[in-house]
Amino acid sequence: MSDKKPKLTRREFLEIISRKAPGWLLLVGTFGGRTLLAQNSDSDYDPENHSYAMGIDIHKCIGCGRCVDACKVENNVPDEPHFFRTWVERYLVPSEGEALVDSPNGGRYGFPEVKVDVDVLRSFFVPKLCNHCTNAPCVQVCPVGATFTSRDGVVLVDEKICVGCRYCIQACPYGARFLHPVKMVADKCTFCYHRITHGHLPACVEVCPTQARIFGEVGKHSSPLRRFVRFEDITVLKPWLNTEPKVYYAGADGEVR
Ligand code: SF4
Ligand code: SF4
Repeated sequence: MSDKKPKLTRREFLEIISRKAPGWLLLVGTFGGRTLLAQNSDSDYDPENHSYAMGIDIHKCIGCGRCVDACKVENNVPDEPHFFRTWVERYLVPSEGEALVDSPNGGRYGFPEVKVDVDVLRSFFVPKLCNHCTNAPCVQVCPVGATFTSRDGVVLVDEKICVGCRYCIQACPYGARFLHPVKMVADKCTFCYHRITHGHLPACVEVCPTQARIFGEVGKHSSPLRRFVRFEDITVLKPWLNTEPKVYYAGADGEVR
């Protein structure tokens, strides 16, 4: 979820840089602002042979929140209910007007009984996370190259380079980033990069009791994600932005925003 902060002026931004990383500009110029996170994995792991994505089957999500809890634990996400790498929203569609959306504590402990004064025609749950956009605004605005797309298609943040300027948080149209309150760097879903590069599923996918989350590679015949994308009626969030998300939703009608 996004951390709503006022925009930084150029001067404030330069002050942050000079406090956090004096001499840093020279380093960025030399190395293009990247450390090689994609190589922190098994020696036989070749990121060039992979291209990861995720599917979300809204028909299957029961809003139990196990995915949210597993993500918090796996990735040491701060416990406070403002910080999430993934969260679940409940949509209540009334007979008239816009859908009502809630996400108490990110849906981590499920959802209380509905108490609203309108007729609810239907309700459903929508898990959300970083979409690992192909045309990622967060990558484009990062002034130091800390946010980048790995060779296996995952949008990552290099904590050693991030200066905490929040440009990426403001730029993300999905509210998928937050400023880590202790590390003071941008944080978000990594598809559990430390797990997937060792052949494991992301924590949220592993614990989901209904297989509402499907992880894999669209380009691989053996991948369950390929079948999901092929046989379900797939959409992405805010397609008009041309960010080309790599999180694919089945069952997300026009109400989902
Ligand atoms: Fe960046 Fe937001 Fe897209 Fe994730 S969802 S890649 S944080 S713009
Ligand atoms: Fe939905 Fe699965 Fe998450 Fe439960 S664990 S809220 S069913 S996606």
